[in-house]
Amino acid sequence: MNNDVNMNDPQESQDVEMVRTEKLVKRFGDNIVLNGVDFSVKRGQAVVVIGPSGSGKTTLLRCLNHLEKIDDGRIYIDGQLVGYREQDGRLVEDSEANIARMRSQIGFVFQRFNLFAHKTALENIIEAPIQVLRQPKDEVIARARVLLEKVGMSDKEQSYPHRLSGGQQQRVAIARALAMNPKLMLFDEATSALDPELVGEVLKVMRQLAEEGMTMVAVTHEMGFARDVADHVVFMDKSQIVEQGTPEQIFSDSQNERTRNFLSRVV
Ligand code: ADP
Repeated sequence: MNNDVNMNDPQESQDVEMVRTEKLVKRFGDNIVLNGVDFSVKRGQAVVVIGPSGSGKTTLLRCLNHLEKIDDGRIYIDGQLVGYREQDGRLVEDSEANIARMRSQIGFVFQRFNLFAHKTALENIIEAPIQVLRQPKDEVIARARVLLEKVGMSDKEQSYPHRLSGGQQQRVAIARALAMNPKLMLFDEATSALDPELVGEVLKVMRQLAEEGMTMVAVTHEMGFARDVADHVVFMDKSQIVEQGTPEQIFSDSQNERTRNFLSRVV
């Protein structure tokens, strides 16, 4: 998929890794939720993570921006170690300021719309660029309006979340994440809480972003989306990546029985 960096040499730019995890381990008590996960996303790639409930998909996403602390292994975003820094050959937890800076470069869209209830759609979008990035308000508002148009919400800029449908709220949430000009977007089952008739409008925005070359990781149960939009599909089961490849490889030519079993149940 095309992207916006180094257009003179798109091949080279697309080979740059935006995300890399090495032997990532995450436990909740005795429960090993990520058991040595090596996961990689290249710049400009849309990666879709699928797998049964409880396989560790959401936890993987949350680890990527240090919403969860990892127990072992390493995570790099755009070449930078996430959550930790090396000191005298050991890893020590990074400063809150560095973690916040890293998070500000990653857009995260949750399953439940988490807009600020007492702010309008426009106010939701402009909050972080003004408060966190200290950008000039008039510029931020102008850009927010472009983003509202992009997600098809121009006529709702003054609406409060409770006046919006779930699909509309989720589209505002995407615009809000984009307002920070992220280098990476993470979608955690962004359509799972929506009424079925509202799923399509959110997937359409996600598809458009992928087509524009936004680097993204989407955890989803929408197999049609995975098949049509993903550059790369990752199948997780029981805390591990079991198989990964192009949508064609995973959906039509899977080499793994667990993948085939899962797909036979959900497709
Ligand atoms: P998936 O997204 O594939 O459904 P999750 O990453 O949500 O899987 O969960 C993987 C496992 O981790 C599950 O067994 C779940 O119960 C457990 N888990 C997730 N979050 C927590 C938490 N905050 N505390 C304890 N266990 C958790």
